Amino acid sequence: MNEEELLSKLVSIDSQTHKSNKEIIEFISSFFLRLGVNPEVKNVNKNKKTFNLILKIPRTKESDMPPLILSGHTDTVMISNEEQLLPEVRNGVLFGRGACDMKAGLTSIMLACKDYLKEKERSKDVYVIFTSDEEGSGEGIIKLCKDFSLNERADIIVAEPTNNNLFIGQKSCLDLELIFNGERMHSSMLQPNNLNKNAILNATSFINKVMELLQSEYQGYDELFGYTSFNVGTILSEGAPNIVPDKCIIKINIRANPNYNIDEIQDKVLRIAERIDPKVKIKILFKGDSFMTSKESRIINKILNSCKCDLKYKWAWTEASYLSKYGDVVIFGPGNPEYAHKNNEQVKISDIEMFRKIYFTLMTK
Ligand SMILES: [Zn+2]
Repeated sequence: MNEEELLSKLVSIDSQTHKSNKEIIEFISSFFLRLGVNPEVKNVNKNKKTFNLILKIPRTKESDMPPLILSGHTDTVMISNEEQLLPEVRNGVLFGRGACDMKAGLTSIMLACKDYLKEKERSKDVYVIFTSDEEGSGEGIIKLCKDFSLNERADIIVAEPTNNNLFIGQKSCLDLELIFNGERMHSSMLQPNNLNKNAILNATSFINKVMELLQSEYQGYDELFGYTSFNVGTILSEGAPNIVPDKCIIKINIRANPNYNIDEIQDKVLRIAERIDPKVKIKILFKGDSFMTSKESRIINKILNSCKCDLKYKWAWTEASYLSKYGDVVIFGPGNPEYAHKNNEQVKISDIEMFRKIYFTLMTK
């Protein structure tokens, strides 16, 4: 199977994130079994029938080279029509759901492994880890971190599309939902000494205090990551000009650069909310850590020596921060992320060929 055939097959297997990924995991398993290596398939969610795959290609001779981990996710975002599951190639470009994000990356990894397995002398342990639910709950990578352990520090590549950029750090991300309470009453009853009876005023006072906190303690400008960002994405409440509202729901997002600890920020933000309204209901919708790999690290030097690419920093969040516990991690893979999740999702076949070679080189050097 060449790049086009393998990617076409992967795209044609429906692995939308709200469904089971059993079929694609079985296909990938049998691909590796035919090459003579036996992947481990691990349960993620029994009800949903989702699985992770872990594979080791052991070295065949003694060496002090660190292990290499290549990682990717098997799920895709939802399709908007059935045709997206029918891959189509035009002028060297393959169209279909998941083509870019990130079945192209899986294809390059799988074919690079095939090439590596043909080598008689292998001086590096190579691990492949493919997860479920990256586009959804994120439970695949959380489970993987429980199932997978290593005794030595590895070099790690997350094969998400990066359009010839090498991402060596990312911001953390925190999504919170807060429900503030008040007391429903005639608006004339609201006085300067009982403004906390108004749920909307409680929410806005919270928003202002969080902004003050971020500006005073977490707003150092970072050349790479910019400022800490704060967004209020939702504010829901209902009343009338003459009725004091008793409930206000807000959803906020905070993204901080790797110099700041997101757990500490979360603690302070929650304390502000509880001080304003002791009965506030708080839901942590999502929390993901940042990561930052040193420019002097082995993996970055190796990549810069084997191809041309620009060093970049990601303001959005990916699974890479979980993997940083195993070693130095970078995000580097085929495809242009601009096409990820789009209806015209696409990837150049030549990109996949190029990354097959780059990954193979990194396995051998
Ligand atoms: Zn992705």
